[in-house]
Amino acid sequence: MIRKKIILLLLIIVSVNLTAQQKFYNILISFDGFRWDYPNRGITPNLDFIKQHGVHASSLKPCFPTKTFPNHYSIVTGLYPQNHGIIANNFFNPVTGKMYRIGDTVAVRDPRNYIGEAIWETAKRQGVITASYFWPGSELTLDYRRPDYYEKYEHNRAYSKRIEGVLDWLKLPYNQRPKLITMYFDATDTYGHQFGTNSPEVTRSIMQLDSLIGKLFNGLKDLNLYDSTNVIIVSDHGMADVDNVRIINVEKILSNTKQRIVDSGPVMYVFPDDNEKSKIYDLLKASEKNYKVYYREEIPEYLNFSKSFIIPPILIVAEPGWSLLTEKDIKRYSKMTTGGNHGYDNNFIDMHGIFFAIGPDFKTGYTCGTIQNIDINPLLAKLLHIIPNQKIDGKFERIEFLLRDF
Ligand code: AMP
Ligand code: ZN
Ligand code: ZN
Repeated sequence: MIRKKIILLLLIIVSVNLTAQQKFYNILISFDGFRWDYPNRGITPNLDFIKQHGVHASSLKPCFPTKTFPNHYSIVTGLYPQNHGIIANNFFNPVTGKMYRIGDTVAVRDPRNYIGEAIWETAKRQGVITASYFWPGSELTLDYRRPDYYEKYEHNRAYSKRIEGVLDWLKLPYNQRPKLITMYFDATDTYGHQFGTNSPEVTRSIMQLDSLIGKLFNGLKDLNLYDSTNVIIVSDHGMADVDNVRIINVEKILSNTKQRIVDSGPVMYVFPDDNEKSKIYDLLKASEKNYKVYYREEIPEYLNFSKSFIIPPILIVAEPGWSLLTEKDIKRYSKMTTGGNHGYDNNFIDMHGIFFAIGPDFKTGYTCGTIQNIDINPLLAKLLHIIPNQKIDGKFERIEFLLRDF
């Protein structure tokens, strides 16, 4: 009798340990520009389901500048943009001597622009198979820096195709099947820019993206993998309404100076010609209204955006809703009736995104406050049972409480 009891106890210990060791599938989904409060509109049944049965943060704090590429790369590297190199969607890289632009496939695939180590690199080195159905930084020309399976970005690729592609990877023989998969969908960002955050177009895109979650869940159920998959849904930043009234003509302020302006909208970078730096700064300072101007060295600590030589010498940041423009932009804006943008200070709540997660490793029905997107990299390392990259800004301790004990 006692022997039987001991054997039973041993069996229980072994099985508990096996569950504790089990590595599940992990799908990381990004809904571009899905603002922190969009799930409160009552039109997202699938996110509501996750809220009830998984975990949910009241907002996901992005890094500054609150743009697509810097933040997607922060999510996968656990680094602030000043440390991972993708400091903007468009920037001049003194190392390559070239402009980086997200529409330029050569620049986007050039490994020299990416100083961080993405989670798929860390995972791959530790024998974990990874895949990406689109993610900024997933298409580098060096194969050891890419996920094992990846797709080259194609903006108009049907969303249903993306889901089918991911499910196809999960149909591969077990030893070829990825344990980490990323996915990306742009709709809320695209329509948010074009029509503004309260437009019917944005409402429709919120519903459309939410419905994709249901489709993915059904696909996982058909494969019998639903119970062994963690699904994490995030966004890179939020969105704020802009208009053609709250505009700042920077070219006019700097009309008597020699410089090069990069980017426009919520943030603008100025490269002064020789000996023009202080004159440019003084002019911008004298007109400083509805924006802030900084020398790189005086950018406030909380923005974590000064410790890299790639960051331009002068930065201008607009107040929420305001736009820093060149003469050319102003012509374009004059025709605009509605619109949205992002890139502003990451403490501005409407720049925050979403975080929802469900699966065997997550708590159920658990809601927390704001969490930071740089902490997702160490969270993924934990889910993949790998040693995280030690040289990151993210901290597992700040996000650990979302997980069940394992
Ligand atoms: P943003 O200007 O910050 O709103 O950038 C959003 C845009 O980034 C989207 O409309 C996409 O066209 C583009 N984008 C997103 N992911 C990728 C990618 N992996 N490669 C190239 N472009 C991308
Ligand atoms: Zn974005
Ligand atoms: Zn955008």
